[in-house]
Amino acid sequence: MSQKKQVTRIVSQGHYAASFEEEFEEEVYDPKKEYLVRSMLEEIGEDPKREGLQRTPLRVAKAMDFLTSGYQQSAEDIIRRAVFAEDCKEMVVVRDIEFYSMCEHHMLPFFGRAHVGYLPNGKVVGLSKVARVVDVFARRLQVQERLTNQVADALMENLGAHGVAVVMEASHTCMMMRGVQKQNSSTVSSAMRGTFEEDARTRAEFMGFIRD
Ligand code: ZN
Repeated sequence: MSQKKQVTRIVSQGHYAASFEEEFEEEVYDPKKEYLVRSMLEEIGEDPKREGLQRTPLRVAKAMDFLTSGYQQSAEDIIRRAVFAEDCKEMVVVRDIEFYSMCEHHMLPFFGRAHVGYLPNGKVVGLSKVARVVDVFARRLQVQERLTNQVADALMENLGAHGVAVVMEASHTCMMMRGVQKQNSSTVSSAMRGTFEEDARTRAEFMGFIRD
């Protein structure tokens, strides 16, 4: 599935528009997804033809493509294109990376902040790329624990670092809006690799950096 989709426009033809509806030009983006959204609207008792909902299937299709665009991207490509040699031995920490993802159980958003640290081994990566790696995995259907591990593994494998640490704090709307309806709970997950896993002092130093 490609990132950019051709937008097809169907404009009503003929001398007179036969009905009110035909006076509008109808934009089609992804017929299959739009059909599914329209069916869902009908199933929940809505009227997909009412004014406010007419373009909803199209908007939802576009939004879903963006929110799951991580499937079309590779963390490996992003990291490998932005790696450069640098004799830096100090810990690099990027904290408070905002992320938005969707839980695979309910397809509802969860969102929060990621903190990423690594100990370079002769190679560093552009800092903005660390945030992009978080997005590549966040823009898929996820569970927070897997998301955290995938970010850590991608950096560890493609950076050849001595160690990588990832801590993610998130609020899950599937818990806030439904189920237990706990609005103020947040979930913290962590993934430690290499030195961060083996050495408590390295881990403590990282935790010190990300503490408020
Ligand atoms: Zn969920």
